[in-house]
Amino acid sequence: MKKLKILMAASECVPFAKEGGLADVVGVLPKHLARMGHDVRVVMPRYKRVDRERYGLKQLPGVLVVPMGVIGNQYCGVWEGRIPGSDVPVYFLEHEGYYGRDGLYEMNNEGYLDNDNRFVFLSKAALELPKMIGFEPDLLHAHDWHTAAIPVLVNTTYAADPYVGGKATVLSVHNMQHQGNFYEGLMDVLGIGWEHFTFLGLEKDGETNLLKGGLYHATVLNTVSKGYAREMQTPEYGWGLDGVVRERAADLFGILNGVDYDDWNPEVDPYIAARYSAADLSGKKLCKRDLQRTFGLPERDDVPLFGMVSRLVKQKGVDILAEAIHRILALDVQFVMLGAGEPWTHFFFGDIKNAYPDKFNLYVGYNNPLSHQIEAGADFFLMPSAFEPCGLNQMYSLRYGTLPIVRATGGLDDSVENFDGKTLSGTGFKFWSHDAGALFDTVGWAVYTWYNRRDAMEKLIANAMAKRFTWEDAAAKYEELYGRALRKRLGEKTFVRRYGKDKPVSG
Ligand code: ADP
Repeated sequence: MKKLKILMAASECVPFAKEGGLADVVGVLPKHLARMGHDVRVVMPRYKRVDRERYGLKQLPGVLVVPMGVIGNQYCGVWEGRIPGSDVPVYFLEHEGYYGRDGLYEMNNEGYLDNDNRFVFLSKAALELPKMIGFEPDLLHAHDWHTAAIPVLVNTTYAADPYVGGKATVLSVHNMQHQGNFYEGLMDVLGIGWEHFTFLGLEKDGETNLLKGGLYHATVLNTVSKGYAREMQTPEYGWGLDGVVRERAADLFGILNGVDYDDWNPEVDPYIAARYSAADLSGKKLCKRDLQRTFGLPERDDVPLFGMVSRLVKQKGVDILAEAIHRILALDVQFVMLGAGEPWTHFFFGDIKNAYPDKFNLYVGYNNPLSHQIEAGADFFLMPSAFEPCGLNQMYSLRYGTLPIVRATGGLDDSVENFDGKTLSGTGFKFWSHDAGALFDTVGWAVYTWYNRRDAMEKLIANAMAKRFTWEDAAAKYEELYGRALRKRLGEKTFVRRYGKDKPVSG
């Protein structure tokens, strides 16, 4: 394939700024694309937490002028760095007023009131940047609502821009719940004309919905699993935009994220008590003991230990877990939980810890080493999510021989195979109905298997540990997706040249 020039714009990128799985994709995918020979560059805000010295950022000469419609021009400095371990340039937009704050999106659970301007600015600055750095991309890749205005602008305000006008665009959706819906007047900041404020444009329930605009205008769309690509077309998972997604279904693809196996590998993991492999699991026993000790639970080999690492929010199924937890802890099991989130969960599971001190313990907060220790030391890993576009922990769990118990949704359904008691195939335990009964039954099934079917457990663990979800595979699929976007764009331009008509499908 021809080597491409790709500009990727996003609100997060590891290791600079991360809140969720989006940051992993933006930080890792470009490295792999660069290894395949593509010229990929990333643009993102320079949040207060992005330390210029630590990452060796260098300031580019000049300022970037960004026209913000009725707000007028805004100006920012641009700092250049590299994604660590690669030559991939990252351009950081330095605008003190928009990004010089502690949070990425919010403070004390309250979204910033100017998030509309902050991310319209990011989208527009990404389109102004190519002129400044002399980089004409073949394709622009936007992620989630924060940069979903890019495909819209490329087709409208920037259609005649010599660097980005009419270029192919890809929009990746990492979560349909967050759409960037704001007051209608945002149209005047975008400056794209009120004719786009319609049912077939950015308007949704009287508001300006940035994700909706991106879904209509991007040349192709993708999300982070095939399962979620199907689900987001349904009212249950579409958060009101399922109709738009259905309309674009022919251009929608699902690509599962990869795992960074340099970081998540029990054979070399520096955070865990003992290293182990599929061929020799003795280290895993030591990790279990260590985990029990860390959480102050009785050090027993003869009890199944459940682990959970998660943002403690409704999406992750903490509500149905709260409903089932007493029944689960009535069994002879242990349970350790790491996470933070909605305040009620801290109180609720704190009470559970007091009620079952020998069975349950909870660590409230974010703790990366501890998350590795849970992956290594637990027997089962629980993910009862209401929806899960991709999910990473179930993939880590498989590598660590810690059998995932998941609700069969999105990426969880795509990456975990259900246990079959007859053939002993499968890599974990699944349930479909999102309720406490189904969750409890499946936990019970896993507990029964653990106590009574050692043969099956050993086989399941071996199956799980042999699974790989690599970034090499994912990057090859993104390359294919880019090829599709470019061909489609070319086809549309040829159509316009021949017939003098506007957009047959997108653009
Ligand atoms: P999401 O992006 O919806 O939060 P993912 O499963 O895609 O869910 O990614 C979550 C990532 O964050 C995983 O790597 C997980 O281990 C990590 N994580 C979540 N909560 C914690 C925590 N409290 N401590 C350490 N790591 C956490």
